[in-house]
Amino acid sequence: MAFVQSKYYVDSLAENTKRGLRQKVRRGEFPGPAPIGYLNDVRTKTIMVDKKKSVIVRRAFELYAKNQSRLEDIANFLAKSGIITKSGKRISKDRVSVILSNPFYYGHFRYAGEVHEGKHQPIVAKKLFDEVQAVLEKRGKRRKSHRNNPQVFCGLLRCATCNMMITGEYKVKTQKNGNVHHYTYYRCTKKSKMVNCPEPCIRQEKLDEQISSLLQTVSLRPDWAKEWKVMFAHDEKNFAQSTNAFVEERKVKIQGLDMKLQRLLDSYLEQDIERNIYLEKKAKFMSEKKSLEEQIFTFPQKRTGWLEPMRKWIGEAETLGKIASDTDLFEKKVAAEKVFGSNLLLSKKSVRACALQSIANPAQNAYAALSAAYADLGKLPESQIRVSDRGVEPLTSAMSMLRSNHLS
Ligand SMILES: [Zn+2]
Repeated sequence: MAFVQSKYYVDSLAENTKRGLRQKVRRGEFPGPAPIGYLNDVRTKTIMVDKKKSVIVRRAFELYAKNQSRLEDIANFLAKSGIITKSGKRISKDRVSVILSNPFYYGHFRYAGEVHEGKHQPIVAKKLFDEVQAVLEKRGKRRKSHRNNPQVFCGLLRCATCNMMITGEYKVKTQKNGNVHHYTYYRCTKKSKMVNCPEPCIRQEKLDEQISSLLQTVSLRPDWAKEWKVMFAHDEKNFAQSTNAFVEERKVKIQGLDMKLQRLLDSYLEQDIERNIYLEKKAKFMSEKKSLEEQIFTFPQKRTGWLEPMRKWIGEAETLGKIASDTDLFEKKVAAEKVFGSNLLLSKKSVRACALQSIANPAQNAYAALSAAYADLGKLPESQIRVSDRGVEPLTSAMSMLRSNHLS
């Protein structure tokens, strides 16, 4: 039990960290140490231009673009200008190649195998950068290692045969006629000692198609979304009205209690009642008053606390279709993780979701219910599938209602 709990804690911690990083990436902030020529501003947690070193880095790009220097020459130039390794040596030519092919310098950045637009200030023009890439290409010095950076769908899927993670690799194939092919493929890490896993690998394009169509299956139909929003607004209005009535009623009762308290005090001062009776009654009225005040405070929260998550879910579920038909693989991965959690399996080059129901994640349950509802379309009249006019209830129960309604 303790193990399960601490595992859950670690998982959710890792999940939160990942989420934090992604939010950073989406805001255009590189979530890592600043490359040479930049500085991490610890105070604002942003990346700033290093005034001195940025000039040197730009100069290195300019030098290499002339196609008269080797990577070693650039390393020497950098060393002469004071850019060296932590241990005081000249940086390696591989490292120079890494620097010269880093899109960070013209304003983008690479994260999880994909390029994102950055908010930081570029220090090299895109044109100069491209000239440098052409020289690197010509000299066959295009950085090898970045090809094996984690690919975008890494960590999203497990192997259906041996349950190990699916990893991605970037490959370049040169044909005898000189044609060069670049491609990314995904395969089982085959780390299991129990199973000799025979699963084949799959091209990124194929994987993308399948993940996209899986996302399509759980995207909220625009007509349903529209109808739900109307229902939702209607419920919200009703709740607001009944909440107001509830609060008003209690306010009137509190006023009554205040009057009673005043009269009680008057009687006591007039010496009509004994001190102990006065104290006893006063305590009783005060206690009633406190209960009413508390109800006024907590009631609206209790009744409307679910509205926000539900609204958020509808919005998310609605955009899945757009994400699925878009080309942004990173967005797709984020969406797939949200919907399927760690339940995506790859088997014989095909992706499927297993056990979509999750106890811990109401949003995932809602997606499961939605996909079940779609599966029953055509078997049942649509009016029986959509949420009945009893109203939209909190996320989980709304969705299980949606489910039980049409299954019964
Ligand atoms: Zn496997």
